[in-house]
Amino acid sequence: MDTMKDKTGQGGIILAKLDDLLNWARLSSLWPLSFGLACCAIEMMGAHASGYDLDRLGIIPRASPRQADVMIVAGTVTFKMADRLRRLYDQMAEPRYVISMGSCANCGGPYWQHGYHVVKGVHRIVPVDVYVPGCPPRPEALIGGFLKLQQKMRNEHPLPPLLARAVASISSKEKKIT
Ligand code: SF4
Repeated sequence: MDTMKDKTGQGGIILAKLDDLLNWARLSSLWPLSFGLACCAIEMMGAHASGYDLDRLGIIPRASPRQADVMIVAGTVTFKMADRLRRLYDQMAEPRYVISMGSCANCGGPYWQHGYHVVKGVHRIVPVDVYVPGCPPRPEALIGGFLKLQQKMRNEHPLPPLLARAVASISSKEKKIT
């Protein structure tokens, strides 16, 4: 097996694109805002518990949208809850992601036909990055969803938007001073 020394050579230099480095840091510390709405939330809690231990993948649940990178929508989204869900999503810092967990969040689930109070898919409220199928999905399926999200993030280029935001914030500060 290759050791780090084999990869870096005698000089110990690692060459990587800054985009790749940022992506590695981002996808290794995904902090979810857990939006447990119904029975699927029990499986989500199971994934965080000691048996599956999502912490070992750097996935640590947060109680505040300000500290979260990814929202897990686990369960039935009612129309009453929809605007709260959207508000919390808007409070998350960019770049932000959404995992739709279970049939209810994906498409209305058992309520798709007669559930007058149920949103038929959380994609109508927030953009969804990964769908996890099942009723309910097991914790392994949620972990699979995170792996898919990490794969998606690996192909992103976070640097240009970050630089654009930094330039915009500097120029707005300059305008305030002048
Ligand atoms: S998908 Fe099934 S398990 Fe999940 S919240 Fe809906 S009814 Fe419950």
